[in-house]
Amino acid sequence: MKIYNTLTRTKEEFVPIEPGKVRMYVCGPTVYNLIHIGNARPMIFFDSVRRYLEYKGYEVNYVSNFTDVDDKIIKAALAEGVDSSVISERYIEECKKDMAGMDVKPATTHPKATEEIDGMIDMISDLIEKDHAYEVNGTVYFRVRSFKEYGKLSGKNLDDLESGNRTLLVTGEDEKEDPMDFVLWKPKKEGEPYWESPWGQGRPGWHIECSVMSKKYLGEEIDIHGGGEDLIFPHHENEIAQSEACSGHVFAHYWMHNAFLNINNVKMSKSLGNFLLVRDISKQYDLSVLRFFMLSAHYRSPLNFSPELMEAAKNGLDRIHTAMKRMKDELGKGLAGAETADEKAAREAFAARFEAAMDDDFNTADAISVIFEMVKHANTLKPEETTAEGWEALRNTLLRLADILGIEEPKEELLDADIEALIEERQAARKAKNYARADEIRKELADKGILLEDTKEGVKWKRK
Ligand code: AMP
Ligand code: ZN
Repeated sequence: MKIYNTLTRTKEEFVPIEPGKVRMYVCGPTVYNLIHIGNARPMIFFDSVRRYLEYKGYEVNYVSNFTDVDDKIIKAALAEGVDSSVISERYIEECKKDMAGMDVKPATTHPKATEEIDGMIDMISDLIEKDHAYEVNGTVYFRVRSFKEYGKLSGKNLDDLESGNRTLLVTGEDEKEDPMDFVLWKPKKEGEPYWESPWGQGRPGWHIECSVMSKKYLGEEIDIHGGGEDLIFPHHENEIAQSEACSGHVFAHYWMHNAFLNINNVKMSKSLGNFLLVRDISKQYDLSVLRFFMLSAHYRSPLNFSPELMEAAKNGLDRIHTAMKRMKDELGKGLAGAETADEKAAREAFAARFEAAMDDDFNTADAISVIFEMVKHANTLKPEETTAEGWEALRNTLLRLADILGIEEPKEELLDADIEALIEERQAARKAKNYARADEIRKELADKGILLEDTKEGVKWKRK
């Protein structure tokens, strides 16, 4: 399996630190608003990376943080007159709903920056001790010149950066030894959240958060570190400097960056105001369509959002769903006997081509083409000319491969009357103390996308 490594600018064979295991960290969102579909691109893509690694048999420890202390969160909190934790908690919950809608599996751990402050203070103290950081008037800076490899990820040269930065020095930062130095800890300002530290009350800088959370949940040396390409500099460059200056060895072996999701060929971002929320899209489409649209391009190519492409994604996904439904409906109707050699060979060839696409730096666009070809092949099959076993094996392969991309077999639509009948049966089962049956019904409904809520006024239900 090959991965394009931003650090070496080449596709490299993937060799995990520990055989059979992958330690992977992806920078998560700053939670001050609902996520936009640009933020959704890394979430969806890296979820498929994780699913593919799991398909290949790796045990994946996947960590993705929530940045829940930040100027933008504080600003939103001041505007609403609430504590900043109210804002961050609210948008973490909303983000999780959007992730579930897009079929993004929860990470192994979703650490929150505000719960990891002790680790940050420890790492900053360590950096000061090792002369890689210094404190001035309650602010701690990283001494960039002390880390000889600074710039290796972004390919930036320290002297070029220096001359560019000199003019950028703003008041209050002239206490820095060098204009390149960046903040690890900043003193509190009135009305802002703060923590006690050896350098007074204050809060951490953004970059140190990820170095610390990655170290705590994955160890000092990890396999894959990912995020959008806007994070290469300065965020990931600074993470490398902090982590490697502290540990004395390599931090992450493979650096992966997704290209931007654009709108009218301009990066979608909150600051430019040209964004569409995942929540907006969900009013018009099932979010599985958004996911399919995102994966229809290679992750290192910019992807331009347009209503036409979303419609095309919807039509493509419908085609796959229709085939999946037929594969299910016709199960068991084929010929008796074992799967034939030809059936097996055809099925395995699809899986091999799908894997070859994904092994080539996670080429989801090509992987989707293989799924379409499989669908085309399945559509030409007739149960009376296919073994029932071969039919089922092909269906299982299709479902297994599609699942890596987050494409699921369509759920059977239940009519309102059917749902209500099942709810009544569940109530009766509960009355008769047959809790096993009652739970079974709840699960059956949940599998079909129906959520039950027991309220004082009785059982309420809604479609997911
Ligand atoms: P932020 O909340 O801005 O820190 O971003 C969270 C994640 O979304 C980071 O990995 C960003 O690189 C990524 N991201 C933000 N905007 C876009 C975009 N328009 N296209 C692709 N990725 C993005
Ligand atoms: Zn980060």
